[in-house]
Amino acid sequence: MSTLSDLLLAAGLTGRGGAAFPTGAKVALAERHDADLIVNACDGELHARKDGWVVAHHLPEMLAATEHLTRRRVRVAAHRDSPTLAALRAAGADTLAVPRRYVSSEESALTRLAHGGPARPVMRYRPIAAGGRDPGGRRLPPTLVLNAETVWRIQQIAEHGVRWFRSFGTADEPGPRLVTVVDGVAKPGVYDAEAGLPLSEILCRAGGPIVPVRALWLSGLSGGFLRAADADTAWSRIGLAPFGIAPGAGTVRVLDARADPWHDVLAALSYAAGESAGQCGPCMFGLPALRDRLTELVRHPTPGAADRLTRTLGQVPGRGACRHPDGTARFVASALDVFGTAPALLDEPSSAGLGPQE
Ligand code: SF4
Repeated sequence: MSTLSDLLLAAGLTGRGGAAFPTGAKVALAERHDADLIVNACDGELHARKDGWVVAHHLPEMLAATEHLTRRRVRVAAHRDSPTLAALRAAGADTLAVPRRYVSSEESALTRLAHGGPARPVMRYRPIAAGGRDPGGRRLPPTLVLNAETVWRIQQIAEHGVRWFRSFGTADEPGPRLVTVVDGVAKPGVYDAEAGLPLSEILCRAGGPIVPVRALWLSGLSGGFLRAADADTAWSRIGLAPFGIAPGAGTVRVLDARADPWHDVLAALSYAAGESAGQCGPCMFGLPALRDRLTELVRHPTPGAADRLTRTLGQVPGRGACRHPDGTARFVASALDVFGTAPALLDEPSSAGLGPQE
């Protein structure tokens, strides 16, 4: 008899929280370890709103799916004092209130929080669905952490079948998925999408741009930027790979060609530096250094500033307990690639014909 994990592998569902790991493989591991379940409805990525949207519009289906996923305890995580947490509590869900920090909704941080620890990631040598240890050596029980949209998609696959699911998206990246579009469009919000759609079509679903477009900022702090001229690029892992970006948590923000993009980049980098969980040196010291070097280069350029930034960019990735510093380094590299640092480049008008719609 086919198990739920087999069904999900046949459907090709991948996690909708950003990592895009095959959900069937994760569920199979959790089945073997009789894991608890945490449904992550935090929308932890910059600009993300879709998991709150799932809770607001599809909570019964999402909770129904959890019954197929484990016989053990099920909790739904949402940020403290958020409307999402209030909606979950009103529906009688077993909730986990999560501090509003960037890395606090990372899966090992949620598992640690659920067992009385701080919401900080732990260094992992195997998936948390097989269990782990916190830095003090205390055991973290096997815990399956799935994004809220992912859990809703599991219910849809169980109800409508693999063929229905695969009728959306591409052969490599099947299924419907949600995207959050913010700023610079007529109707910011959460929209149905699927891998392979041109980004220009996603903007149309949000009413189209209402500002001249300099660039699209995709996937928050874990993502990067696409020039307006590339707005017909397919929104998929394969389509975005040449730009060093992935669909991630499904966010698109339109950057106005009349505004200074470095204002947004430096603000995001300051936020990233402040959100380090303060556990790993390359992250705790490296991200503020990255912010300072980039500020020096784009605001007060001095001889050697570019070399200093390049050196720091090389020192940050691959050395933290979570991917926060890696994603932030990629984000900075993408900004440098798309915006350059010379003032003349920043004055270039939009070149893709993307602009305010009549
Ligand atoms: S890499 Fe940074 S954010 Fe991640 S656990 Fe280490 S200190 Fe915290």
